[in-house]
Amino acid sequence: MGEFDLIARYFKRPVRRAALGVGDDCALLLPRPGTQIAISTDMLVAGRHFFADTDPCRLGHKSLAVNLSDLAACGAKPLAFTLALSLPGVDEPWLAAFAHGLLALADVHGCELIGGDTTAGPLNICITVLGEVPVVNGRSQALLRSGAKPGDDLYVSGTLGDARLALDALLGNLHVPDAVLAAARLRLEQPTPRVALGLALRGVASAALDVSDGLIGDLGHLLESSGVGATVDADAVTSLIAANRSSTLGRPAEGPLDLLLTQDQWRTLALSGGDDYELLFTAPVPLREAVAQASRSSQTAVTRIGQIDAMPGLRLVDQRGQPLANRYTSFDHFA
Ligand code: ADP
Ligand code: MG
Repeated sequence: MGEFDLIARYFKRPVRRAALGVGDDCALLLPRPGTQIAISTDMLVAGRHFFADTDPCRLGHKSLAVNLSDLAACGAKPLAFTLALSLPGVDEPWLAAFAHGLLALADVHGCELIGGDTTAGPLNICITVLGEVPVVNGRSQALLRSGAKPGDDLYVSGTLGDARLALDALLGNLHVPDAVLAAARLRLEQPTPRVALGLALRGVASAALDVSDGLIGDLGHLLESSGVGATVDADAVTSLIAANRSSTLGRPAEGPLDLLLTQDQWRTLALSGGDDYELLFTAPVPLREAVAQASRSSQTAVTRIGQIDAMPGLRLVDQRGQPLANRYTSFDHFA
């Protein structure tokens, strides 16, 4: 099978909203009046972002999910994406499964594949997503990293740390029961982009970003962009690890996980983790009910984990408000 047959078989689909899709030199997309186009790119490199033998269906899902997560963080509605693929060879079962995982998630979000590039080379997947953000009275409704104000509440969606737990277990650095690993592995390999929550937070959140490299580092970006600091309840964050919660609920057949991980290891997973693709956002205190409503309407759990301070820097406290040393870092490709 040649390059063009491959594209036609696995990646060419009828256009829907786009004016022109796969098959010409450019795709064409007509923005709706009164909207801005939000654009984001994420690359996944084999051996760096995923194991080369990862289930291709899950890999297809994740490749798009990490991009949709960026749209979610901006409060943008997914429109379309392009796919640049470098493949070591034509492995049809692999391609079929990859395309299935990718396009199934695309269909869930009405995000159409409108073009890309396909070359031979080491396995590498690069997606660019396009989304739509309304402009109201000349003001963009996009959620940015830069809008947090002293006194705002700080929230995070869903669960944190389980993807890192799975990674550590798969690398053999950590030993956890099979059922715990299976659940955590889904978080690593099939993250759920919080698109509905991002849309519901337009006009509510003062700042937002998605947590991809670990809470501490990503929160640092938000604080820096906003020119503020924060106080974070490390225990509230640690209780967001699903595996931690299931262990405290008791898993008699497998033994409690807290025997296996120390409090500091749990905190490290939750605070430094990575690959969570949850939304971290701030909102003014008077909008607490609006945040709760956004959580309900998007059916996405949201937890208040701290507040924004005028004093720059990140301060960690435990559940009683006692200061904790911040020894936690985040992922950096070149650190
Ligand atoms: P060009 O050489 O003009 O850049 P290509 O021959 O690379 O175009 O691609 C042909 C068409 O197939 C283009 O419309 C391109 O957007 C599309 N395409 C290539 N690879 C992919 C892919 N992996 N997924 C979706 N569309 C693709
Ligand atoms: Mg090309």
